[in-house]
Amino acid sequence: MKISRRTQTITAWAYPTLAVVAAVGFLFAGSKVQSSLVILSMVSVFPAGYFAARVNRLPRTLTCGMAAVGFLYILEAAAAEIFTSDAPVSVADSIDLIATIGIIAITVNVVQRRRGGLTAGDVLDGVIIGAGAWLGAWILLVQPYLSQSSDSSTTGIVVSAMHIPLSMIILALASLLLFGGGRPRPSIVLVTAGLGFNIAGDLIYALEESRALGSWAYTVADALYLISVAACAGAIVHPSAHALVGESTSRRRVPLPGRLAVTVSALIIPVALVTLIPASSFADRTVRSAATITIVLTVAVRFHRAARAQIHSQDELAEVAYTDELTRLPNKRALFEMSREAIDDLWTTEHQPSFYLYDIDGFKNINDATGHSIGDEVLRLVAKRLQAAAGSIGATVTRSSGDEFVVFDSTPTHEDEAMHRAKVLHGVFDQSVVTSGGDVFVTASCGVACMISGSPTPSEDLFRWADIAMYQAKANGRNRVVLYEPAMQEHVARRMTIERSLRGALERRELHLFHQPIIDVATGAVTGVEALMRWRRPDGSVVSPGTFIPIAEETGLIDEIGSWAVLEALSTLRGWIDEGIVSDSTTISVNVSPRQLADPRFTSVVQQALDRSRMPPHLLWLEVTETAMVENAELAKAVLQEIRATGVRIALDDFGTGYSSLSLLQQFPIQRIKIDRAFVSSIDNNDNDRNLVRTIVGLGESMGVDIVAEGVETVMQLRQLRQLGCPKAQGFLISHPVPAEAMRSTVRALESLSQWPEFAQLMGDSSLNQLPSTGG
Ligand code: C2E
Ligand code: CA
Ligand code: CA
Repeated sequence: MKISRRTQTITAWAYPTLAVVAAVGFLFAGSKVQSSLVILSMVSVFPAGYFAARVNRLPRTLTCGMAAVGFLYILEAAAAEIFTSDAPVSVADSIDLIATIGIIAITVNVVQRRRGGLTAGDVLDGVIIGAGAWLGAWILLVQPYLSQSSDSSTTGIVVSAMHIPLSMIILALASLLLFGGGRPRPSIVLVTAGLGFNIAGDLIYALEESRALGSWAYTVADALYLISVAACAGAIVHPSAHALVGESTSRRRVPLPGRLAVTVSALIIPVALVTLIPASSFADRTVRSAATITIVLTVAVRFHRAARAQIHSQDELAEVAYTDELTRLPNKRALFEMSREAIDDLWTTEHQPSFYLYDIDGFKNINDATGHSIGDEVLRLVAKRLQAAAGSIGATVTRSSGDEFVVFDSTPTHEDEAMHRAKVLHGVFDQSVVTSGGDVFVTASCGVACMISGSPTPSEDLFRWADIAMYQAKANGRNRVVLYEPAMQEHVARRMTIERSLRGALERRELHLFHQPIIDVATGAVTGVEALMRWRRPDGSVVSPGTFIPIAEETGLIDEIGSWAVLEALSTLRGWIDEGIVSDSTTISVNVSPRQLADPRFTSVVQQALDRSRMPPHLLWLEVTETAMVENAELAKAVLQEIRATGVRIALDDFGTGYSSLSLLQQFPIQRIKIDRAFVSSIDNNDNDRNLVRTIVGLGESMGVDIVAEGVETVMQLRQLRQLGCPKAQGFLISHPVPAEAMRSTVRALESLSQWPEFAQLMGDSSLNQLPSTGG
C-alpha cells in the first residue's frame, strides 16, 4: 500500500479531532444515539489497525491485541445496553476489567520493545504506585461504597475497586513511555494522551460508582473513552508509529525527579489518607494493613536494589580506572598505587622493589605490516605470557601504555638479583607468538630500575629510570635487558631533544641531501651518485644520519623523511642531467630503511617521485640492508618484487656486516651488492678479506650482479680492487659526499683526473696513497 506521509499524518490527527467533536455531541445526545456513537467509534478503529499492520508494518501481536481490546469495548457497550438490570456485578463492568488488563498487557509490550525490556526497578515502581493507588481507592471509594450499599457482593466490590489500581498501573506505564527515551514522537504523545483520557474516564466512573457524583458522570466518562480510543487509533496510523515498537536510540531512562515525584506521591497520599480517615471495621483494617505492608516491603526491596546497584557501579568504575581494557592487566595507575604501598612497607627492609619495563621492539612495524587486530592479538598474547611468567616468581605485570609492560617485583634484595629476574622474564620473547594471522616474532627491550636501598624512592622515579634504561637497551641494539644507571640520564635527554626537534625538521627545510660519486674502477668515470641525508640545525651544527635516522625509524618519522629523500634525489639528478653536469645514464642511489619497506604505500611513493621528476626508473637504485630482508622477510620480498617490477633497481647495502647470507641473492630481486667498508679497509693487508672480496666479485660476475666497494680511502685499496676485478667503487679517496651545488666541480675534477695520462701509472705507484681531495 502506497500512501504519502502527509495523508498518513492528516488521518492520524483526524481521528482524535473528530472524536473530540463527537464527544461534545455525545454529551447532549439521547442514549440511543450515544450507544451508536460509541459502537461507531469502536468500529472506526479497525481500519486504523489494518492500516497500521499494512503500511506501518506494526507487529501482529500489537495490532491483534488492539483489535481484541477494541472488540471487548464494543461488547461492553452492547452489554451495557442489554443487561440494564442492576446485577451485583454488571456484565459490562466485568468486560471492562478484562479490556483494561488487555490495555496494560499491550502497553507493557510497547514499553518493553521501546526500552529493550523492563527492569526490575520499573516493575517495583509499578507495584508501589499500584498498591498506593489501591489503598487510596479503598479508603476514598470502595470502603464508603461498601458501607452504603448493603446488598453488594464481594465480587462486585473487588471488580470496581480493582479498576483504580489498574488505571494507576496504566498511568505509570504511560509516564515510562513518555519520558522513557529521547524526544517524544507524535505517536508516543498520542498513545500517552489516549491512556490519560482512559484513566480520567475510569476515575469519573469509579467516583460515580461510589455515588460521589451525579448520573451525568457516566456520560462524561463514556465521552472520555471515546476520545481515548481515537487517540490510540491515531497513534498507530501516524508515520512515526514505528517509534512505538522500535527500541529507543536514547538510553535515557525516566528522569529521576519525575520518577521520584510519581513514586513518592503514591506513598504519601495513601499514608495521609490512612492517618486522616480512621478505619471503620475489621475488614477495613485488614485491607489497610495488607496494602501498607505490601508498599513497605516493595519500597524496602527497591531501596536494597538501588543501594546494591550503586555499590556495583562504584566497583565497576574502580575496575575501569585500574584495568587496561585490551589485556585486562592492571594499568599504570594501578602500578603506581601498588608499588607506592609496597615501597612504603619495604623501604626499611633489605628488599629493593624494582620495575622491569618491557617495550616491544618495532611494534609499529608489526601493526603496520599485519594490521591492528593482529597487533592487538600480539599484545594480548604477550600480556598472557608475561603474566604467567611473572606470576611464577611472585611479581605483577601491568600494561603502562601501547606496547609497554611494566613488571613490579618487590622481592629483589640486590640489583644483580633484579637483573637476573628481569632476564628470566625476558625469556618469554624467545618463542614466536602464534596469532590468527600466523606466527609473529617479537622481541622486547627491557629497562630495569631498583629502589635505592634504604630510601623510599617514589614510584614515578622508578618508572622514569626504567624508561631511560629501556631507551638505552634500544640504543644498544634492542632485544636486551639494561640496568638503569644515573649516567644514562644525560644521554637519553639528548636523544629526546633530537626526537622533538626532528619532528619539524622537514617543514623547516633543515634536511638536505649530500651526494657521493660512484666511479667505474677501470675508467674512473662517474657512473652514479649516492644520496646521503644531512640535518643542518638552526644553530649551524650538522647531525649525522647515523644519529637521527635510527630515531626517525623508531618514531615512524622515517616514512615521511624517506619519501621526501626519494623525490629530492630524483629531482636533483634531473637537474644535473638537464644542465649537462652528468651524463644521462648516471644513476642515483637512495637509502631505504627497513621500516619504509613495511609501509604498504612505499611502492606508490617511489612511482610518484619518478613521475614527478620525469625520470626513467632504471636510473634509480634503492639501497636496502640485509636486516630489512631478514626481519619480516615475506613482506620485504613482496614489496621489493613490486618495486623491481616498476624497473627500479635494488642494491644490497653494507654487505658483509650482518647475516652475509648469499642465499639472499636467490630469494630477493637484487641487482647490486655494496661491499661494506670494513672489508675494503683491510683489503690490502688481510688475506681473508681480500679472498672474500674476490669471491663476491666472482659471484657477481657469474650472476650478473653489479658490485660496488664502499669506503675506499687509499690508492692502495683502489688498486687492489682493480686487480680483483671489482667494477665500481666509492669512498673519501674519490670524493667525500658533497652538496648538490658542488657536483659540477666534483665531476669536472674527477673527469680531468681519469683523463690524466698518469692515472693508470698512479694506480700502479704505491708511494702515492692519497689523491688530492676533490671536495666535501
Ligand atoms: P651507508 O648507506 O653505508 O652510507 C655510506 C656512509 O659511509 C656515509 O655516511 C658516507 O659518508 C660514509 N663514507 C663514504 N665514504 C667513506 C670513506 O671512504 N670512509 C668512511 N669512513 N666513510 C665513508 P653517512 O652519510 O654518515 O651515512 C650513514 C648511514 O646513514 C648510511 O650508511 C645510511 O645507512 C644512512 N643514511 C644516510 N642517508 C640516508 C637516507 O636518506 N635514508 C636512510 N634510510 N638512511 C640514510
Ligand atoms: Ca648506502
Ligand atoms: Ca653502506
